[in-house]
Amino acid sequence: MSAAALLVVLAVAAPATAPADLVLVSAKVWTGEAAPREASALAVRGGRIVAVGSDPEVEALRGPGTKVLDGRGRRVVPGFIDSHTHMTMGGLNLLAVDLRRTRDEADFTRRLAEFARGRPAGQWITDGAWDQQQWRVPRLPTRALLDPATGDRPACLSRQDGHMMVCNSLALKLARITRGTPDPPGGVIVRDASGEPTGVLKDAAMDAVWAVRPPRTVAELTEGLRAAMKHAAERGVTSVQDLPGNPLDLSAWEKLRDGGELTLRVHYRPSLSQWEKARDRRAAAGNDEWLRVGGVKGYADGSLGSGTALFFTPYADDPKTSGVYAAEAIPFSKMEERVAAADRAGLQVEIHAIGDRANAEILDLFERVSKANGARDRRFRIEHAQHLRAADIPRFAKLGVIASMQPYHAIDDGRWAETRIGRERCRTTYAFRSLLDAGGRLAFGSDWDVAPLSPIAGIDAAVTRRTIDGKNPGGWFPQERITVEEAIRAYTRDAAFAAFEEKEKGTLAAGKLADFAILSADPFSVQPEEIGKIEVVTTVVGGRVVHSK
Ligand SMILES: [Zn+2]
Repeated sequence: MSAAALLVVLAVAAPATAPADLVLVSAKVWTGEAAPREASALAVRGGRIVAVGSDPEVEALRGPGTKVLDGRGRRVVPGFIDSHTHMTMGGLNLLAVDLRRTRDEADFTRRLAEFARGRPAGQWITDGAWDQQQWRVPRLPTRALLDPATGDRPACLSRQDGHMMVCNSLALKLARITRGTPDPPGGVIVRDASGEPTGVLKDAAMDAVWAVRPPRTVAELTEGLRAAMKHAAERGVTSVQDLPGNPLDLSAWEKLRDGGELTLRVHYRPSLSQWEKARDRRAAAGNDEWLRVGGVKGYADGSLGSGTALFFTPYADDPKTSGVYAAEAIPFSKMEERVAAADRAGLQVEIHAIGDRANAEILDLFERVSKANGARDRRFRIEHAQHLRAADIPRFAKLGVIASMQPYHAIDDGRWAETRIGRERCRTTYAFRSLLDAGGRLAFGSDWDVAPLSPIAGIDAAVTRRTIDGKNPGGWFPQERITVEEAIRAYTRDAAFAAFEEKEKGTLAAGKLADFAILSADPFSVQPEEIGKIEVVTTVVGGRVVHSK
């Protein structure tokens, strides 16, 4: 940027004489703007960028109190925006005990005891993801392994597959499961030789425990969100578009916001079925740059993995089914009424659609609602947009519908998708390239914690399309690969656009929020197979360093 251009920028933002709070120098800044596209420095005041330019230009804004961040020649990008997260679920799982890597029964008890010691008395201990097949003697655990470790805390630990759990004696007592309790339909209470329950409950037998486990409190959720925010900061994520994980999500976010604890920005989207509440909450939430409610999320179908994604023709490996509608899309007219009402109330609507039929019918629905409610900048979104008929791909651009996609799912599902739906339908699966070429807009995210909360992993997936089993080194349907720049745009500028926030964030320019990340290597210049190894060295949100390694 020339000195003259810099002065123009400064005149808009603040008096040129006031020193900056923070300057970043000696960096390789990719601004995301057309001009300047590259810079070496930027200055921050009051949480916003006041200048982007060369080192000497920005050094001029350095005062005695200015903090200096040395970029050491590293690549700097706008802070990543994850367009699809479930932060409370992810955070609670980060805090849960992980018993997957235990070697034997003694190791299981020892690890559990270590974890339990740090937990408040009376609080349930859950999750665990244990797998007795990993043990030297693969025998089902019993409550005798749990009781000495858990003390006065009820515990029900799920096996990795979620089809059984092992409870301690206290949890069985609370659930009123005794030797006299019959097995429920669809479930098994595992018993020892004398008929006493061992603690292991299978399938429907677990319901008795779910029924007595108290719902998560706001305090538990905020604890989970603190862990989730740290996890996000370590990965360069400075904003999330967060989706329901728990009915009290928004209360937990508000508590953190009110306490000044947020280290990332949150755009929360309640369920479509709650759109009236969302509308009222939006008005009451005190929407600001840290926490916003502006949209709602609905479901059209299920998932490919469970065979519930809705297609026009049957599954290749199960010709009896073509998938199903999600409960809230039955009848479809009911969902359409809700979408239309939420849209009339000014809420942005996004619908989860995986199968080609679910996507086509939601595009139809969006088209009808747009026509009925009249022209408006509404930015309808389809979450996942996973399997598309070729004919539907150009409709995203034509209707202005944003494809909110999670590239990591492509390299994960890509391992087995062809078995489920055949090769032909996979050609237009996660069709990043085709959507962009047709003029469409992509907003990228993770769907954490279904997939890792890592934009770097997502960029790697979109650019290489190498499946995680290593079986597609040249890319799974490589014609749908996109460039590094296109992938980063989908995690920054276009993710901001997907939440009506492009004036505030998504690029590095004077006036925008000072959210950026410093990377260990430059994704624009490393070999594509090296992208996944890039680390986030420093994350800055609102001019404040929230992660540095
Ligand atoms: Zn999701």
